[in-house]
Amino acid sequence: MAEKVTAAVRTAPQTTEFREYDMPDIPDEAALLKVEVAGICGTDVKFYSKPPFEGPVIMGHENIGYIAKAGKVFQERKGLKEGDLVFVEHYVGCMNCEHCHRGDYRLCMFTDWRKFPEGLRFGYTLAEREPHLFGGFAQYMYLPWNSVIHKVPDGLSPEFAGVVTPMANGIQWALFDCEVGYDDRVLIQGPGQQGLCNTIACKQAGASLIIVTGTSKDKKRMEVAKKFGADYVINVEEEDPLERIMEITGGEGLDVSLDCTAGAGTIPTLLGVEALKRKGGTLQFQGEDVPEFPNYPMGKIANKYITVKAARGHNYESCELGLKQLASDRFDIGLMTTHRFSLENVHDAINAVGGSGDVIHASLLPWE
Ligand SMILES: [Zn+2]
Ligand SMILES: [Zn+2]
Repeated sequence: MAEKVTAAVRTAPQTTEFREYDMPDIPDEAALLKVEVAGICGTDVKFYSKPPFEGPVIMGHENIGYIAKAGKVFQERKGLKEGDLVFVEHYVGCMNCEHCHRGDYRLCMFTDWRKFPEGLRFGYTLAEREPHLFGGFAQYMYLPWNSVIHKVPDGLSPEFAGVVTPMANGIQWALFDCEVGYDDRVLIQGPGQQGLCNTIACKQAGASLIIVTGTSKDKKRMEVAKKFGADYVINVEEEDPLERIMEITGGEGLDVSLDCTAGAGTIPTLLGVEALKRKGGTLQFQGEDVPEFPNYPMGKIANKYITVKAARGHNYESCELGLKQLASDRFDIGLMTTHRFSLENVHDAINAVGGSGDVIHASLLPWE
């Protein structure tokens, strides 16, 4: 095994430096991951241009790899051994709070880097912190005792397993949070990897109508959405989406609206509230980048008896189900894994994800 580990380190906005770190000692309760695939998503695009805090960070929070070295206690506790292919959640929980006990590591204080900088989160933790290897854009990653790890099902390739983060989000948001089920009519706003995985989850759950919206640059993504079971796709630059939704539903509207736009601000909420059925629909939203919402449709939400849900990552079970879904072969995941990049091309890789609509899921492969 190499004595040094090469890592891509974000040192400033749009700036990557390659650094070498010492191969860490692995105590009994920890392990070392040989990173096979690190997925790149919209969050990477956002934080590569506008880092949320100063200081060097090894990015990469959607990580698949092989257990390269595992301490004795780690093996006993996790039921894993060297050579196992695993998915590592980016949340590193405290394992003590109510949320961790429920498998909701995403809600644990320890994983909330905004409020609790001492917490750990793969892809977000400062590279100065020992033993440094806390991100997937590197050859190896250090797995402390409280890492949350899922075994990749047999037969699922590392590259396809790399889609598990958006797939888990799809299951969490559509099925667990918005309770999409048999005969539901769903609006999915945004056809990126999150929107496509929400499409798969809704189709699998039995939704009777799936409408996916996008813009002109999303042509290829919209085609994939149709292959995954979307009944209608709407280009919001060419058609009035609300008019079209009402036409499709005979004026009745929809049961659920999911915001998978990652950055369209208040627009998906405004469209969702209008597009939902007369009473009792469910609206999911993303709002972290929306500090103010001057014309928030409070009255309408109350009057239509709408349930509002915030999109906040995924829990343990949705990851397990996400991996099973990807391994099921029911949907052609190869339609999503459109781009592969080597570690040295990480800068271009992140910008490619933020650029053209042709990139759906990009995999960073540190050993290619
Ligand atoms: Zn992500
Ligand atoms: Zn916790």
